[in-house]
Amino acid sequence: MQIEKVYEPQRFEPHWAQWWIDSGVFTASAEAPGRVFSLVIPPPNVTGVLHIGHMLEHTEIDVTVRWHRMLGDNTLWLPGTDHAGIATQMVVQRKLAEEGISRHSLGREKFEARVWEWKAQSGDTIKRQMVRLGASCDWNRERFTLDPGLSRAVREVFVRLYEKGLIYRGEYMVNWCPQCHTAISDLEVSHVDVAGHLWHIRYPVNGLPGRYVTVATTRPETMLGDTAVAVNAKDQRYFDLHGRTVQLPLMDREIPIILDDLADPEFGSGAVKVTPAHDLNDFEAGRRHNLPKIQVIGEDAKMTAAAGAYAGLDRFEARRRVLIDLEQSGALVKVEDYPLSLGKCARCGTPVEPLISTQWFVKTKPLAEKAIAVVENGQIAFVPPNWTKTYYEWMYNIRDWCISRQLWWGHRIPAWYCGECKEVIVAREAPATCSRCGSGQLTQDTDVLDTWFSSGLWPFSTLGWPDQTVDLAKYYPTSLLITGFDILFFWVARMVMLGLEFMGEVPFRQVYIHGLVRDAEKQKMSKTKGNVVDPLVVTEKYGTDAVRMALLQGAAPGTDIVLTEERMESSGAFANKIWNAARFLFMNTEPASTFHQALATGHRPPATAIEDRWIFSRLNAVAEQANRAIDQYRYHEFAQLLWHFFWHEFCDWYIELKKVSGTAWSNATAAFETALRLLHPAMPFLTEELWQRLGNAAPKSIALAAYPQFNPALADPEAEKEIGILQEVVTLARTLRTEAKLDPKQQLAGTLYCRTASLAIAQRHAQAIQKIARVTLAFRSETAPKTGAIRSTSEFDLVLDVPESKEDPARKQKELEQLEKNIANIERQLSDEVFLGKAPAKIVESLRAKLAEYRAQRDKLL
Ligand SMILES: [Zn+2]
Ligand SMILES: [Zn+2]
Repeated sequence: MQIEKVYEPQRFEPHWAQWWIDSGVFTASAEAPGRVFSLVIPPPNVTGVLHIGHMLEHTEIDVTVRWHRMLGDNTLWLPGTDHAGIATQMVVQRKLAEEGISRHSLGREKFEARVWEWKAQSGDTIKRQMVRLGASCDWNRERFTLDPGLSRAVREVFVRLYEKGLIYRGEYMVNWCPQCHTAISDLEVSHVDVAGHLWHIRYPVNGLPGRYVTVATTRPETMLGDTAVAVNAKDQRYFDLHGRTVQLPLMDREIPIILDDLADPEFGSGAVKVTPAHDLNDFEAGRRHNLPKIQVIGEDAKMTAAAGAYAGLDRFEARRRVLIDLEQSGALVKVEDYPLSLGKCARCGTPVEPLISTQWFVKTKPLAEKAIAVVENGQIAFVPPNWTKTYYEWMYNIRDWCISRQLWWGHRIPAWYCGECKEVIVAREAPATCSRCGSGQLTQDTDVLDTWFSSGLWPFSTLGWPDQTVDLAKYYPTSLLITGFDILFFWVARMVMLGLEFMGEVPFRQVYIHGLVRDAEKQKMSKTKGNVVDPLVVTEKYGTDAVRMALLQGAAPGTDIVLTEERMESSGAFANKIWNAARFLFMNTEPASTFHQALATGHRPPATAIEDRWIFSRLNAVAEQANRAIDQYRYHEFAQLLWHFFWHEFCDWYIELKKVSGTAWSNATAAFETALRLLHPAMPFLTEELWQRLGNAAPKSIALAAYPQFNPALADPEAEKEIGILQEVVTLARTLRTEAKLDPKQQLAGTLYCRTASLAIAQRHAQAIQKIARVTLAFRSETAPKTGAIRSTSEFDLVLDVPESKEDPARKQKELEQLEKNIANIERQLSDEVFLGKAPAKIVESLRAKLAEYRAQRDKLL
């Protein structure tokens, strides 16, 4: 059988990627037998391209999904993308801006058409990339959050929540981004610590000349909109002012002094200004006292007409002018430095303006209660479990969710307003006339829904809900969600709340939260740092399998993943190592398909050669550990296990042993085939290519072959012990040879001393030891002399006859000096009490061992 000398992943990967899809390998069937394993993808934004974080997420998902498929489960990985309201709209707006067009000049319909157009040409990018990276999704079931079916689900949910009183329209303080020109949710505000100021302003009390109330503020421009000053009813300093008013400086407006707990006697002067239109706490105080709301800052962040002389100024310019005027009038009494947490729009970085507006809200408390209960009673488990606490904290402090966005791209709110009688009609389809007065003058709400509203329905809307489809019955609840911690609240919590409300069942049983991919210095990847790894570039360079393997090796639960070029490169070398092993096998043997059956069904293969018995026993142990590792999301362990098995046990030992023993190669092929199946979830392309070359006919793909399971009958402790002894002796010989700095090819003689039965076992392998270690051994059942080149383990002493080498005195001197230096270094460290107090025991122990080693080497040279 012919096989190319070097593995070139680029030659094979695109082929198998397409072949898997064309052959329906990943197509799920609700009618198929087996336990159900289903998972929905965290839908990437349709505008985007895949970054390395996606690749990590998709690789982890893919390993678990492929494993379940090979276990014979009825497996579905449902793919799709999110319309990503604000993100997408901004991208298209920027493109239009380059052409000198604004969305307002274009108009809503034409703008939406442009977004769809743009989605059509760029929307397939994600899918193409995912296919190329080997994600084993069922593309027949691909969904998009704006699909007609999903849009129908969105309207249905909106109407039902509205009818239940869980959606309402109300005036409320929202976070307003003047740049994006929309309300944004609390979660979309990022807080930045800045060095601010606290300005103290005094307001004269009416009717008491010379009496003032001093308030402090970090935002002096908002004082233009003050409608009260609050003091605490218990604050004795203000007993004389109860029922009085103050005169608002600059505006010359009379405002009342109110009694409210908003004012804390312990803080500052104990009096606070109340601006109901520009601060959430003041807004609530205003409600309690029925205060007017004077909006002095507009949606464009400019001062409104209500700001009098300051109208039309930008808010920051207004602040400057207000401070100058306050100072000139003598009302500014003090300025202090004051650190504050500034709320900025997470998308564009503009400082957020709290504004009152009429928005749609979801009443979340009743939904959150159930969502807390299912985690408490174990119906949903977070892995790692520490995320449970984070989830609770948020759920217990949840506020109503503002779901309307002043955007054009998204699901339009299914509410219509009657021009005649002002009736609000919420309906699944556009009504023709007003349900109250019969007027045809209806206009639909112009806002769209928060993008997380539709993705919150993702686990059931993608399966056909509100129709009771076969898929929905079969695959909901899904088994697992794998996602990042950054969308735990945006997305995961909302899916739990909405899934419980509409399906009466949790949306998934387990949530695995993965880490971040970091660079070699453990830094976060970012465009500004220039350390971003583009998955398409590195997969082109090293092969997809190699990048997957590199990611998996670092993917321990609860940790971030360090991805380096070296790791990807060595993973590429690992793929090549397996390829070369295959090459060697193919040159020596014809595929022995009978053994596949034997292994798959758990029967002991007819192996009598000791090395065959050993490799089957090792494979069996690896199978046990690999299944457990994937089941527990210990992807790093899974990857390391297979790495060690292929590289060391299979290539370094087993193939070498077989060369020596000269026994038939058919068992080697069988073992190799089993190992390929074990590795398949991590490196799907290489394993498919080799598995097909082995001539496997059924099933059609390794992705559908059985995942090897532990079988007690295959455990062979006797063989493991015997090969273990052989490895021990060879390793001893190699160490001695390295120490003596001898040519690795030079044949040597030596004597093995051993007082136990192990000697006979070692002796049985004299030939293998001679060929692999290049040492011809004599075997002695006696105690070893304590001289010469000797190395020992608990059972063996190996003495090597080292030929007299011509000494180079200069080199010897240099070596001695180096050793003395090393010894002095470690001695200093070990006498340092501070170091000893802090260093882990393991480190100290290894230093002591090194010291002993260096001393021994020195004594030998002396
Ligand atoms: Zn913004
Ligand atoms: Zn009407």
